[in-house]
Amino acid sequence: MNSENRVLTIHFSLFTFHWEEAVADPTDRVKENVLGAYYVDMQCIDCDVCRDTAPDNFTRSDENGYSYVFKQPETEDERELCEEALTACPVEAIGNDG
Ligand code: SF4
Repeated sequence: MNSENRVLTIHFSLFTFHWEEAVADPTDRVKENVLGAYYVDMQCIDCDVCRDTAPDNFTRSDENGYSYVFKQPETEDERELCEEALTACPVEAIGNDG
């Protein structure tokens, strides 16, 4: 390896990073979730996106300042909106283990 290649190798090693995808944690669900596939975990930042996207399934705990699933989706439309909420959640606090 000549000196030019060595410099190049060092340069790239500075930009090595570890990518870890955040996902909802089924062991850290907020206690208000009803039983079922969809849930919110404790990462929720109370941003309102899920309640706005799927208001028939997500609501707010005023006492604790986060969202939770108060009704599991029962129709295809509700399932689609819950999936949309899961995808749109900015902190990936919504899970689906169904
Ligand atoms: S979209 Fe995510 S962060 Fe925002 S209120 Fe819903 S669960 Fe919480």
